[in-house]
Amino acid sequence: MGKPYGRILLKLSGEALMGNLGYGIDPKVVQEIAAEVAEIVKSGTQVAIVVGGGNIFRGVKASAAGMDRATGDYIGMIATVMNALTLQDCLERLEVQTRVQTAIAMQEVAEPYIRRRAIRHLEKGRVVIFGAGSGNPFFTTDTTAALRAAEIDAEVIFKATKVDGVYDSDPHVNPQAKRYQTLNYVHVLTQDLRVMDSTAIALCKENNIPILIFDLSVRGNIQRAVMGESIGTIVGGFCEVS
Ligand code: UDP
Repeated sequence: MGKPYGRILLKLSGEALMGNLGYGIDPKVVQEIAAEVAEIVKSGTQVAIVVGGGNIFRGVKASAAGMDRATGDYIGMIATVMNALTLQDCLERLEVQTRVQTAIAMQEVAEPYIRRRAIRHLEKGRVVIFGAGSGNPFFTTDTTAALRAAEIDAEVIFKATKVDGVYDSDPHVNPQAKRYQTLNYVHVLTQDLRVMDSTAIALCKENNIPILIFDLSVRGNIQRAVMGESIGTIVGGFCEVS
């Protein structure tokens, strides 16, 4: 087994915090995620987190129902801050030091996003949670994850999902479906594999940031991923099916 990752960026979708609720935040699920993050932080890996907001609000959906798109996106970004604060609370209860930094200033509740300060927090062993996406409408928190990973020089993006990787066809429909162990960026883009949106993939490609897609619901998976165990699918290398 190789050396554990030194600095990672974990992308948590809003849905990951929702559990089976259908809407909002399941505190029990967030506590479980926090416990896993606490383990890797305590063993020395620096962790930055980008949280989504899809469990609360999505601009695209609101705009389909007639709302101005940019306004909907601002609401979506604010929703991510609720998730960020919840995660912060769960981590701090486990005695992990954290800072929330938001891309839309709300200084009464969180620090503004300042890249150099974020890096300093990480170096001190604090978990930095990035809220409010990129601060710009028409973007996603996946793209934010790629952007922040490049900015803070993260070695890898961990994209936590409900499936154990990327398949060549839908494993629920096709029992012969094969899971890719590795994929390259161009393949993901040309085959429209929907690992992350294309802006995020393009940014990772340009900056050579690998993306690991793995199942967050399996206990211990974050730790395994940090140790470089081959769970899930890694985007960044050559295509290989398992
Ligand atoms: N959003 C945005 N700009 C960003 C990031 C997010 O406008 O840089 C808005 C957008 O409306 C999006 C919502 O915030 O639908 C929630 O983020 P996302 O859908 O990426 O969350 P996830 O799918 O990860 O839960």
